[in-house]
Amino acid sequence: MSSDSSKKNQPVVLYTDDDAASVMMADAALSAAGYSVIAASDGQESIELFHKHLPDLVIMDAVMPGMDGFAAIREIRQSKGGQHVPIMMVTGLDDHESINAAFEIGATDFLTKPINFHVLPHRVNYMLRSANLFNELRSSQERLNNAQRIARIGSWEVDIASGTVNLSDVGKSLLGFKEGEVVADLSTAFKHLRREVVKQIMENYHTAVETAAPFNMEFRLRHPVTQRELTLHVQAVSQLDKNEKQNIIGTLQDVTEISNAQRQIHNLAYYDVVTGLPNRAFLSEKLGYALALAERSKQKFALLFLDLDHFKQVNDTLGHDAGDELLKHTAIRLNEAVREYDAVVRPRPSLVHSDSLPGTHHHTIARLGGDEFIVLITNIKDEQDAAIVAKRISAVIAQPYNLGGAEASVSTTIGISVYPHDGADADTLLKHADIAMYHAKDNGRNSIQFYSREIHDASLARFELEKKLKQAIYTETLQLVYQPKICMSSGEIVGVEALVRWHDDELGTVGPDKFIPLAEDTGLIIPLGRWVMLEACKQMKAWVAAGLKLQSMAINCSAVQFMRSDMSALATEVLELSGLEPHYLEIELTESLLLQDTEQGIKILNGLKARGIQVSIDDFGTGFSSLSYLKKLPVDKLKIDHSFVRDLAIDSGDEAIVSAIITLSHKLALDVVAEGVETEEQYQILAAMQCDQIQGYLVSKPLSAADFLIWYEDTGYNRLLRLVS
Ligand code: C2E
Ligand code: MG
Ligand code: MG
Repeated sequence: MSSDSSKKNQPVVLYTDDDAASVMMADAALSAAGYSVIAASDGQESIELFHKHLPDLVIMDAVMPGMDGFAAIREIRQSKGGQHVPIMMVTGLDDHESINAAFEIGATDFLTKPINFHVLPHRVNYMLRSANLFNELRSSQERLNNAQRIARIGSWEVDIASGTVNLSDVGKSLLGFKEGEVVADLSTAFKHLRREVVKQIMENYHTAVETAAPFNMEFRLRHPVTQRELTLHVQAVSQLDKNEKQNIIGTLQDVTEISNAQRQIHNLAYYDVVTGLPNRAFLSEKLGYALALAERSKQKFALLFLDLDHFKQVNDTLGHDAGDELLKHTAIRLNEAVREYDAVVRPRPSLVHSDSLPGTHHHTIARLGGDEFIVLITNIKDEQDAAIVAKRISAVIAQPYNLGGAEASVSTTIGISVYPHDGADADTLLKHADIAMYHAKDNGRNSIQFYSREIHDASLARFELEKKLKQAIYTETLQLVYQPKICMSSGEIVGVEALVRWHDDELGTVGPDKFIPLAEDTGLIIPLGRWVMLEACKQMKAWVAAGLKLQSMAINCSAVQFMRSDMSALATEVLELSGLEPHYLEIELTESLLLQDTEQGIKILNGLKARGIQVSIDDFGTGFSSLSYLKKLPVDKLKIDHSFVRDLAIDSGDEAIVSAIITLSHKLALDVVAEGVETEEQYQILAAMQCDQIQGYLVSKPLSAADFLIWYEDTGYNRLLRLVS
């Protein structure tokens, strides 16, 4: 017996027999054939040696004193490393019972006594080869299993006739079973699935059995062990096995991550990131669905087009984060408002808040972008229903917001279009709701407006006007007229104010009150304002050069222009282009404009003052100023709004106000100008109050540049003298 079991690369054979002679013979034969032999004389010893040496093959006598071969094999099979080792059992010739028993407990092959020791090495060799092959197969099966485990793919097989299920380990774990749990039939396999999922799988299963067509489906499962929500993909095909029996084989794969990623991509494509509301793309799908449904069932639906009023101001003054915050709050409030409506008017509780499938509920709220939202309300009785929701929304949105500590309020303007009255397709309905909303904005915001033909016409007219105004700005066919201001004590002209005019061939003369708001809304105010400033500065430069004694050229600056464009940079550029010295330029701002954002306003004003430009507050008295606020503003002049001047001789209240403004201005060392002075009576009162300057028809209407020159040189000077005397 060779004890040299440690020789490398020599297959080790554990030979167990109580017959010492047999051991000796076997050792000799196997050693000669290149095997390393370990011998044991009974079952117990065999097991010990097995653990110690982990042989490549075991030869085991069946009948031995002490522990017999059967018991030893059973134990080896159950021990670590003993599961797959080839075991040859040695039995008596024709001992069929023993042979069967040997196979049953896991012997690989058998050998009958008396042993032919010449043949033994060949048998051993043969057995090891097939064992190696088997091992290879097994390890590739293991690799496959591992791959399946990693990929979280399980496999399964159902014998259709018997309903027996064979489910792989991964499959079991995916379906929520613990290791070792027996899953032998379909109803066990489906134990952890939701009822509707089982129903769906079984429908597919039956179709596959009947048609032999493969099937694929995905379902969700809350895993009973991990409590995770999984998405599983099942794929199956029906086939005939080698015994011509029909079965269904398939795989089961965990696709949770892929499907979550897909859902995320879907969300990005269909939902607005800021508010989580459906976006334009999603809305358009829902609209398509709503249209089809409404058409079929002869129902009405309404589209509410919402726009927050002055949202830009929140963004500009409180920052974009606050702006986003406001949009989020708006989305939540919209949902609440509409849900309340749904609950009160049409109680269908379970359907109300789902937004998973198009059309399963009665409203959709979407964000189109910016501060624009759409509310789609399907199946309304009449327009009144839409009005109720719109009013509810207005009220809810108007509640104050807390945006990172700052309190803010916004109102909303809503335009409404109703199917089928206002349009038969999605685009038209959206456009018409938009038109109605714009119309409402024009008429003072914070309101609700249904679409109508008249609005449509008005909006077309507005659109036309916008087009023409744009053209007038870019072809520089606007004009400036100039209205003088005079000093009350000296009677001299101190300056002029430039006022813009638009003469259109078709429309005639259009006043700034008509087109400045339009220019502000459309952004045209920026190029328009630039043109006015440049044109006025050039004119002033020419007049100064011609020797006219003018101290200032005032231009009016719109709120939008003041806040949105870089006024200092514009003034610098314009002064350079025109060659006018900065102190000749005066900028008139309305008081309300400065009230909107005092801090920012003061910053811009300081920038202008630093360049030597004069600043005055226009239409003073119409906003709500406090003295402390006025003191903070770096301005030179106040212009009393002409509404106070108009009734000066009639209304003692106005007289008191004007008097107070003048006294206040002087206390703050500001010049004060009365606007819109038309009568001598007004003039006398203002003179008595020691108003510094006046402007108005009494002195002169606004004049073209050419007319102003004539006025200045002729009538102007004499007239002033007469007034003062
Ligand atoms: P404003 O700056 O307060 O200009 C005074 C307005 O009162 C002018 O109207 C002027 O023609 C008018 N007015 C002057 N004296 C009298 C008077 O004695 N009686 C009456 N009843 N009215 C008088 P206009 O030119 O129609 O301008 C209206 C407003 O449009 C201006 O008010 C100003 O806020 C704005 N505006 C005019 N030109 C421009 C401009 O170039 N840019 C901007 N952003 N706004 C402008
Ligand atoms: Mg003005
Ligand atoms: Mg004014």
